[in-house]
Amino acid sequence: MTADLTTLAGRLAAVRAGIDAACHAAGRDPAEVTLLPVSKTFGADVVAEAAGLGLRRFGENKVQEIQAKATELASLGLDWVVIGHLQTNKAKVVAALASEVQSLDRLDLAVALDKALQAQGRGIDVLVQLKTSAEDSKTGLPPGELLGFLDQLKAFHSLRVRGLMTIAEHSDDEAVVRANFRALYQCRNSAQDAGHPLVRLSMGMSGDYALAIAEGSTEVRIGSSIFGARNYKTDSVS
Ligand SMILES: *Cc1c(COP(=O)(O)O)cnc(C)c1O
Repeated sequence: MTADLTTLAGRLAAVRAGIDAACHAAGRDPAEVTLLPVSKTFGADVVAEAAGLGLRRFGENKVQEIQAKATELASLGLDWVVIGHLQTNKAKVVAALASEVQSLDRLDLAVALDKALQAQGRGIDVLVQLKTSAEDSKTGLPPGELLGFLDQLKAFHSLRVRGLMTIAEHSDDEAVVRANFRALYQCRNSAQDAGHPLVRLSMGMSGDYALAIAEGSTEVRIGSSIFGARNYKTDSVS
């Protein structure tokens, strides 16, 4: 199959084919792996086009961008998923607009989110972001603190803890990347053994999703392979 990579529909088809191929190579059922399109830095017009192709959930790493796109595209009823480092003072906006947070990495954020969600009378799914790589720039909870954090999260009834998220080290060495993904998988199993019913593993991006799928990913977050190269003029996150 050859997809036309000059169109959004073609790139989406190519990514879906790539996910299927990675699943088959790993002996996994493609139905086990969800695609989260990451629309950060792209405008509402692009998201609307993607929605026209059947995509309903979009990953974003800046709350201001969610605010702008959710306002402009309110009539489409899309789900916004926070995947970037979240400041505690953004909890109210997130509670109002996001369907899910994958970057929960500390207690004060859980406190603020739960409080804001209680005020809105709603709950959201959350994933705990773990720092599985040695890179300084990556945020996330240290894996050794996961079980204690999961126990603390039980007090927050608006936060439905569904699994874990990580960003692997940016490396050409596949063994390094795979080790980061394997660490997340093992953390989830340890959590399950400790009685926490975590299922989801959000891991894998445009450059490394096949490795993530081989290591057990249940959700890949794909930006540039679907939407194209990003313009980082207004985006300081690497
Ligand atoms: C930007 C981003 C992605 C998508 O990255 P691509 O390499 O463009 O696929 C995935 N996860 C997080 C947390 C991101 O910030």
